[in-house]
Amino acid sequence: MPDSNAKRAVKVALSSLLWATDRVRSRIPGLASVHGRGVVLLYHSIPERDRERFGRQLDALVALGEVVSLDELLTAPGAAPRFAITFDDALDTLADVALAELQRRGLTATVFVPTGALAALPRWAGADGSADAVMSAERLGALPESIAIGSHTRTHVRLSTLGGDELATELAGSLSDIRNLGAGPAMHLAFPYGDWSPEVAAAAVAAGYNHLWTVEPKPVASGPSGDGAGDLLGRVTVDADDWPIEYRLKTAGSYRWIAWFMTAKRRRASAVARTAASGG
Ligand SMILES: [Zn+2]
Repeated sequence: MPDSNAKRAVKVALSSLLWATDRVRSRIPGLASVHGRGVVLLYHSIPERDRERFGRQLDALVALGEVVSLDELLTAPGAAPRFAITFDDALDTLADVALAELQRRGLTATVFVPTGALAALPRWAGADGSADAVMSAERLGALPESIAIGSHTRTHVRLSTLGGDELATELAGSLSDIRNLGAGPAMHLAFPYGDWSPEVAAAAVAAGYNHLWTVEPKPVASGPSGDGAGDLLGRVTVDADDWPIEYRLKTAGSYRWIAWFMTAKRRRASAVARTAASGG
């Protein structure tokens, strides 16, 4: 469920404080800052009514820095700030609306595909009931090379709830699916709901994924000495409806404080699960 306006305003206020702190720190020589890191954006649906707003957000990114592919962000040197754009769920509006806006600006993006749910409306838990369907294999195959393909599992499940065989099927099955759909040499996986555990991450690396993407809004360390294979990588959820200040703060990495809470919550949940499993 989207945040209420009040909750969004609180996040903007707190993120503005962090942004201001970053500005001060960046002027002190020798202090590490968020500058030099890359911010990966996570979009879902871009309906026609949001075309202009989405275009304005892309213009803002181009004005602020460089938009690169995930692979380039992680491995190639470059001047900050750098951004990468991702779309989860592979919805039709990516091809119908977003693609033309990206192409008009010469921008690249990555789409994370639930490979066992193609050519149908999303039916997984939490799907918002909009009429935006998952693309068909034909549509995915017709995407230009500027759109890279990654895995979003087969059936958009919470991976941390699965046992060995089911987990292996979701991970290895979707990996072979995205290879068939034309994924590049590096294999990217985005966890549905951002749900993962250390066991899930280990299984994903064992299945052959190189890069694991969460929804924890922290910047990635970009460039050749940055985050590497098997690292849990952050993305910040954005929407064409975001207020301009909200979008600006997210692209500045100023929402990263929320990742601290998400990490704490996940650790607590896995501690509870371990206690339950040991019969305590
Ligand atoms: Zn998803």
